[in-house]
Formats: sequence, C-alpha cells, structure tokens
Amino acid sequence: MLDPETTRHADLRSGAGPWRARTHRPPGRPLERDMGWDVAIVGGGITGAFLAEHMTALGLDTVVIDREREGFGSTAASTAMLQWEIDLPLRKLATLYGFASAAEIYRQSFSAVEGLRRLVAELALPCGFAPRRTIYLAADEAGPRELRDEMELRHRAGLPGDFVEHAALLGAFGFDREAAIVSPGSAEADPLSLCHALLALAAQRGARIIRDEAIGFGGTGRGAAVTLAGGAVVEAGHLVLATGYVMPGFVHNDLHRTASSWAIATVPQPPQALWPERALIWEASERYCYCRTTPEGRIIFGGEDEEDDDPDRREALASAKTKVLTARLQALVPAARLELDHAWSGAFGQTEDGLPLIGRVQGQPRMLAAYGYGGNGITFSFLASRMIGALLRGQEESWFRHFAIDRPLPG
Ligand SMILES: Cc1cc2nc3c(=O)[nH]c(=O)nc-3n(C[C@H](O)[C@H](O)[C@H](O)COP(=O)(O)OP(=O)(O)OC[C@H]3O[C@@H](n4cnc5c(N)ncnc54)[C@H](O)[C@@H]3O)c2cc1C
Repeated sequence: MLDPETTRHADLRSGAGPWRARTHRPPGRPLERDMGWDVAIVGGGITGAFLAEHMTALGLDTVVIDREREGFGSTAASTAMLQWEIDLPLRKLATLYGFASAAEIYRQSFSAVEGLRRLVAELALPCGFAPRRTIYLAADEAGPRELRDEMELRHRAGLPGDFVEHAALLGAFGFDREAAIVSPGSAEADPLSLCHALLALAAQRGARIIRDEAIGFGGTGRGAAVTLAGGAVVEAGHLVLATGYVMPGFVHNDLHRTASSWAIATVPQPPQALWPERALIWEASERYCYCRTTPEGRIIFGGEDEEDDDPDRREALASAKTKVLTARLQALVPAARLELDHAWSGAFGQTEDGLPLIGRVQGQPRMLAAYGYGGNGITFSFLASRMIGALLRGQEESWFRHFAIDRPLPG
C-alpha cells in the first residue's frame, strides 16, 4: 500500500474567513460494505465535491472519504474568485508551450467558468454565485505595454476583454493605475456553501460520505483500494485522489509546490465605498493582490503569498501580513472603511507553469488525481471533474495533455 503523506485541516488554515456553512452538510454514514463502488473519491473539499456531483450525475456508484469536516480544508479559506485568467499570463504561457497550446489552455479555462456557471444555474445551488468582470491592474513589472501585448494575444486566442488606459480606468472604476485589462466571463461564490451543496446533491443521488482517514492506496486485480484508519478497505473500480495541497508522495511532479496566502475581510461597506459592478480585481505583479466583495458588501482583500506552507510560520506572520494587506487595500480603495471582521490564511498547491496536475497517476492504471490548482483553484477543480469523468468513460481529448500529471518540466 502507498503512503498518503497528508496533513490536517488545522495545518491548512489559520484564522477564519467569512464563509459559514449555510447548506446542511450531508450526514456521514458508516461503511456497511467495502466492495463494489464504481468510484472512490478521497477528499471532500471543492474538488471532491465537483467530482462527487459529476460522478453521481453519470450514474456511477460513488463514495467520498474525508478524514475531517468536508470543505474545511483550503476550500473554506478560499476567497473564491472564479476566474478564467490563469496565474501565468498568456504571453508567458506561450513562451513556455507555444502560442497554440497556451491559447487552447486559456480557452479551456474560459469554458470551465462558463460550465461552472451553467451547473450552478441548472441545479439552483445556493452559493452566492454572481457573474463578475475582472480588472487586471498594471503593477510593478507589468505596465501598460505588457498589458497591451497581453490583450492583443488574448484577442488572437479568441478571448474577450479590453485594454483600458489610466484616465478611462479612473473614470469608470476609480482605480488610479497606469492601465488595466477588463474582461467578462468570471464570477464569485461562497466556496463552502458551493462545496456543501454539491455534496448534499451527490448524497441525495446515493453517494456515500465516509468520515475516515485514507492511510494507504493500492491497485487490485480489477480496480483500486483504499485502506482506512478505521480498518476498512474500500474497493472501487477507480480511485480519485483530491486531497488538497499536499500530494501523496507517489503522485509526483517537480512542477508542484505549496504556498500560503493571507486574506482580510472588512465590515460591510457603505455602497459609495465600493467600485462599480463589484468587479473582481487582481494585480499583474509577482507580489500580486486580489480583491472582491461579498453579498453583504464586505471587501475581501488577499495576497502577500509566500512559498511556504508551514502553519507555525504562517501564524507568526499573520499580524504583519494583516497590516500590509490593510495598507494595500487603503491605497487601492481610499474610500473603504478599514475595520476588519476577519483575517485568515491558508495553504494551497500550485505549479511553476500555473497549470493544474489532472489525470492518471503514473504506474497506477485505476488511479486518477487532481492537484496544484494555484489561484484558479476552483475553476480548475471544476475542469478536473469533467476531465476525470471523460477519462472514466474512455473519452480522452488531445488537450488533456496540457494538464497531465507526468508532463515534463517546460524548456
Ligand atoms: C487564502 C486563499 C485564497 C484563495 N483564493 C482563491 C480564489 O480566489 N479562487 C480560487 O479559485 N482559488 C483560491 N484559492 C485556492 C483554492 O482554495 C483551492 O485550490 C481549493 O480550495 C482546493 O480544493 P481541494 O478540494 O482540492 O482541497 P481542500 O479543500 O483542502 O480539500 C481536501 C480534503 O481532503 C481531505 N483529506 C486530505 N487527506 C486525506 C486523507 N488521507 N484521507 C481522507 N481525507 C483526506 C481533507 O480533510 C480536505 O477536506 C485560495 C486558497 C487560499 C488558501
């Protein structure tokens, strides 16, 4: 059996974000049988939840295993900006993989947010989903020239959006930056409610949710098996690993690393303190920040990422990071009330090329996995559920190779 090497929720997050479980979490049920599942999903965060909904929609007999409270890993820490724009700008991705591949990847990401929107609408999932434009602000090394080049490439790739110069940006949104790219097609949601609503639906369709820790994974003659800390062995036709930011050691890619991010949420703001359309805001810089509002009018502001997932160091940095984020928020939105209701941090998986690792696990024909989503975590979680659903039905598309777990390091 392979060793999972994972960590605990308390290590994933510190402080608490603004999300409260609004949908009832589906009840966990004891394991009455340990044979005959079509799919066993390990991890009940947003990735496991999208998978569980999709697998049950495909009519597959599904079991979800989570060792703690589903949704309270990275998912509850997420600021849940559901963007199609990837951490790595198109122009940089094109340098790594060529324009045609980079454009295809961006278009898949765009379609994923659209697919997510359709799913939430069709299933009427109560999760504060709202379509939003994004404002990608010039900052540091990415000035007007770089953003103009980026916009031209995006148009060549068939993607929407406009390059906006300083005066127009200031006039339309009140942001005093040299330039920005304003794009339609993104959205926001409450990640915890979305996760729980998806799991509740999967449970209604017959999925079993088990609260136990997976401590070993292995292949069987006709499928895969997970050994649980409680002693049971769950056998399934396929096993899907969605355990969040720490990848089990046997799922490996040198592109993967873990990072921490810090966030604050203000008290609800008077409407005049908020910018038009409540667009999602993010910065084109290495030390980028990101910003959105909640339905109650809070401003959520995050960033200051570090390539470190140590919970003690994160905790030690919390107060300094909160101060920096508050100052950066004030500089961006001078009219905002700066009293904070929440300050928190969390770890997440990312990759050097900004693309997730989704697909078959090397050397394990019945195991699939989804990791390393970066800032587009939830968009890529949705994409992962669709890709894995297709792989289980034997429908492999040529673009899946861009996200393959065993893809080589670029260059
Ligand atoms: C501060 C912050 C802000 C972010 N902002 C955004 C954003 O704006 N937009 C965006 O798209 N993404 C954002 N992300 C990233 C996003 O939150 C993550 O990509 C996403 O939540 C990952 O979901 P997951 O289900 O893969 O992992 P998790 O939510 O961590 O779920 C994994 C689950 O697996 C379970 N598990 C682990 N090991 C085992 C085991 N051995 N046995 C059983 N169960 C196990 C855990 O208990 C956990 O519940 C942000 C992340 C952070 C920290």
